[in-house]
Amino acid sequence: METLYIVVPCYNEQEVLPETSKRLLEKLCALIDGKKITPESRIVFVNDGSKDRTWQMIEELHQQERFFQGVCLSRNMGHQNALLAGLMTVKDHCDMTISMDADLQDDINAIDAMVEKYYAGCDVVYGVRDNRDSDTWFKKFTAEGYYKVMKHLGADIVFNHADFRLMSRRALDGLRSFPEVNIFLRGIVPMIGYPSDKVFYKRSERFAGESKYPLKKMLSFAWEGITSLSTKPIRMISMVGGGIFLVSIIMLIYSLVRYFTGETEIGWTSTIVSIWAIGGLQLLAIGIIGEYIGKVYLETKNRPKYIVQTYLGDDEENN
Ligand code: UDP
Ligand code: MG
Repeated sequence: METLYIVVPCYNEQEVLPETSKRLLEKLCALIDGKKITPESRIVFVNDGSKDRTWQMIEELHQQERFFQGVCLSRNMGHQNALLAGLMTVKDHCDMTISMDADLQDDINAIDAMVEKYYAGCDVVYGVRDNRDSDTWFKKFTAEGYYKVMKHLGADIVFNHADFRLMSRRALDGLRSFPEVNIFLRGIVPMIGYPSDKVFYKRSERFAGESKYPLKKMLSFAWEGITSLSTKPIRMISMVGGGIFLVSIIMLIYSLVRYFTGETEIGWTSTIVSIWAIGGLQLLAIGIIGEYIGKVYLETKNRPKYIVQTYLGDDEENN
């Protein structure tokens, strides 16, 4: 038997926490009773700088029930960093971790299958949603399109998989050896390698509260994913530049021919259109290159990805 830690990042989740903790505890106890995991297994809530009562609730849970632990970050660091902080804090206490969102959108019952696959030899088990019925068509369209674009750009990400996944301890050790500051876990985890498998589940609606990913955050997350995994956009810029150069040479030849055959006109429209088109393209190109330079800048600073303020672990280890 091995020890499982379930890691749950929480940002202003006071509405869902009572239900989430109840259901997770039931699942954990069922697994322990079924002799699938050891009684040392735990549920760890990571408080990502919440402004509501989330952390007080986590403290209360920890006091009432030894199966609950808490990690409090020093401020809001974002979902990916909160998740990483949780995983890295508990890594050495367990054999496997499962990460999931606090809002019960991920199906808790998929945990059994994940654990089975772990015992069958998988180091990473991806939770993959098999439908998007609970999403609006806009979210469905953009999300699925996004996965496809990422594939084209050469990033090896698992289709329709979010951050519901099981990772073994050695996979976590692998993850820790990726020093980059701009992290997009979905893209990095497949790079670790090791045997992996998928578990399919039906994703439901958020149990309560609001999404912590408004459109603006979502767009920046999507952009983060692309630019931290692929440099192809820069190559595309060069290709577009080359293409435009070719077109301009053809235009030049064409204009010369027209000139020498004495048919020149006052080409106001074409002039103005090309000026705007080229100007726009240039700005876009500089912008994209700037994004990458900005990333390089952040990486060279090598700032910590998260800072843990408190860890409510088992008593003999902490406090
Ligand atoms: N989250 C976090 N820090 C943040 C934003 C979100 O830890 O800055 C957590 C949040 O509490 C939840 C998970 O990340 O457990 C996913 O967020 P949410 O469910 O709001 O995203 P959605 O499912 O709408 O994409
Ligand atoms: Mg959610």
